[in-house]
Amino acid sequence: MSAPAPAQLASPWDVPCTYWIGSRSCGSTPTRLYAQGRRCRAHTPAAVRGLPEPGRAAKTKETKR
Ligand SMILES: [Zn+2]
Repeated sequence: MSAPAPAQLASPWDVPCTYWIGSRSCGSTPTRLYAQGRRCRAHTPAAVRGLPEPGRAAKTKETKR
């Protein structure tokens, strides 16, 4: 099981953020792949809406005090 690594990219994380700010894209790294495209941590679909990251909600699932 050895997938051929793309020669032009050191890792998928080095793909710049594709979130557009005004007339240019953000371009920050590292990024993750979302349905909307590559996004840095500041521009995930949840972040741009002001919502918490879906993956982090599970950590504070049970809050009994
Ligand atoms: Zn960004």
